[in-house]
Amino acid sequence: MNKNTLNDLRNQLEGSLELDKLSRSLYATDASVYRKVPLGVAFPKNENDIQKLVRFAQKHNIGLIPRTAGTSLAGQCVGEGLVVDVSRYMTEIIEVNEKEKTVRLQPGVIRDELNIFLEKHNLFFGPNTSTSNRCMIGGMVGNNSSGTTSIQYGVTRDKVIQLKTILTDGSIVTFKALTPEAYKDKMKLESLEGKIYRDIYEELKNPDTQKKIKGGFPKESIHRRNTGYAIDALIASSLYDPSKENINICKLLCGSEGTLAFTTEITLQLDEIPPSFSAMVVTHYNTLEDSLKDVVPVMNHNLHLCEMMDKVILDCTLNNKEQMANRFFVKGDPAALLMLELKDDTAQGLEKQLEELLQTINNSGLSYAHPILREEDINKAIVLRKAGLGLLGNMVGDRKAVACIEDTAVALEDLKEFIDEFSQIMKEFGQKAVYYAHAGAGELHLRPILNL
Ligand SMILES: Cc1cc2nc3c(=O)[nH]c(=O)nc-3n(C[C@H](O)[C@H](O)[C@H](O)COP(=O)(O)OP(=O)(O)OC[C@H]3O[C@@H](n4cnc5c(N)ncnc54)[C@H](O)[C@@H]3O)c2cc1C
Repeated sequence: MNKNTLNDLRNQLEGSLELDKLSRSLYATDASVYRKVPLGVAFPKNENDIQKLVRFAQKHNIGLIPRTAGTSLAGQCVGEGLVVDVSRYMTEIIEVNEKEKTVRLQPGVIRDELNIFLEKHNLFFGPNTSTSNRCMIGGMVGNNSSGTTSIQYGVTRDKVIQLKTILTDGSIVTFKALTPEAYKDKMKLESLEGKIYRDIYEELKNPDTQKKIKGGFPKESIHRRNTGYAIDALIASSLYDPSKENINICKLLCGSEGTLAFTTEITLQLDEIPPSFSAMVVTHYNTLEDSLKDVVPVMNHNLHLCEMMDKVILDCTLNNKEQMANRFFVKGDPAALLMLELKDDTAQGLEKQLEELLQTINNSGLSYAHPILREEDINKAIVLRKAGLGLLGNMVGDRKAVACIEDTAVALEDLKEFIDEFSQIMKEFGQKAVYYAHAGAGELHLRPILNL
């Protein structure tokens, strides 16, 4: 593209547009292995700037790549058009509604900073990625992010109530839950917004289409998933089935990785700060299979955390000075551990929950030890679990745990069979793998240990 054309655009923006080689190189990657050098990097100051960028992109037929912290793992922020980084100026927390437990904010607010701000309101935003100290809400919506807390607080899609967006024609449109009547009123609009409502209705109304979508998507019980656009969430609405909740296009936008609209404001449903009394039981197993068998019964309890670490990852913490201290609770040489955290508003309530969980663990009889951790010890165990991923890089020798089968989620009842099949494949190739992380959500990180 002609440099003058881009310079003209730059002159129209209140924010900035960087066209130099260094800026373009810096924004050529995210946290993935992909790389494409963009035409330039825009830092919009406000909605007006984004409208100008969208209209420019439309006129010149180039892509816009919305970006917040750029911690995406699959090239979501990589492209040849203009990267639009909203993390510099669009960082305002606009309004908290304590009664409704909601917050309205701009996309560039950092997840952990939001929760620090919300503390005084006794509220918090549940979804919790490993990158929560730097990732931003715009990107969490884009990726439908989740993390260790998803078994208790759900994924980002569950929390998005309303999105203010800019569509491809530059129009500003707010999406939120609509009754079937309100939806049909929207269909009458003569605008791109009206066309979106009409097209979605027409495309999805046929029962055969709905059947195919339901058949093609993963089981409803698999909560953590981003299998393309969430059209299954649209058909599960009162527009097509009176027994369901009202349709909300935000469910489709959430997880659409910036490909459908540019978000300028987000309204989130919040939760009350988690109960203050907690205890963690760490079950120890002689085999990986035994740990997986225990996941289903323990998940019948109201767990706030159900995370797994296997021997390979535990061994990586052995030679690390800092993490040695956090291994204080490990008994013997387990093939796998499950970290099971309970929380309650009262000490008595917590003891009751703990007693019931221990009963389940004893009944299954699969674990050989189950120490109970309290207070600061729980944080140490969580630090050990979080450190595992980074420490995998310290494996001695040429064989390394390669990140090539990340974030695969299955229904809990299928977890053991899925892992058995995976282990069988590894065995056939004479390979071993690392198994760890979100067992309670049916999602394990599986890293084959390969000499590349
Ligand atoms: C070490 C590591 C651990 C991770 N752990 C987790 C984890 O536990 N759980 C998890 O879910 N993810 C995880 N991730 C992936 C990533 O960190 C998260 O998905 C994070 O929430 C992305 O936020 P971000 O601000 O970096 O978004 P970005 O990467 O900047 O953007 C994410 C997507 O949102 C789109 N987007 C951003 N802003 C807007 C906007 N204003 N309008 C429209 N679209 C927009 C982007 O185009 C992109 O498609 C991990 C990544 C790393 C590197």
